[in-house]
Amino acid sequence: MARDVKEWIGKTDGTPAPARVKARIVAAQDGICACGCGVKLGQAGERIEFDHTVALILGGENREGNLRALRRPCHAVKTSEDVAQKSKDARVRKKHLGLTRPKRRLGGKRFDGTPIFPRKD
Ligand SMILES: [Zn+2]
Repeated sequence: MARDVKEWIGKTDGTPAPARVKARIVAAQDGICACGCGVKLGQAGERIEFDHTVALILGGENREGNLRALRRPCHAVKTSEDVAQKSKDARVRKKHLGLTRPKRRLGGKRFDGTPIFPRKD
């Protein structure tokens, strides 16, 4: 590296990266969208959006090293994946903590013909 630049770290999760940091992120990606689509950023007046590689809702930090530049459509896809992951995490955690109701067993008949009713809880 030619210059020793200190990494920008947001004061809070809501602190937006300043323009110079955004410019640095775009330059580091050679102006290409970070999602892997290979499309150049900011074409046809398209907005460049900044994404937390590890989403804040998933414990990611608001700092330069966790930011990348994406095209708007690519960012929308990433965000919905993050949200889906977040709700899956919550579901799994609840299950581990025993906060979900156990699945009801279906009723049926014993071999001798007496009925088995679903458990009452
Ligand atoms: Zn992309």
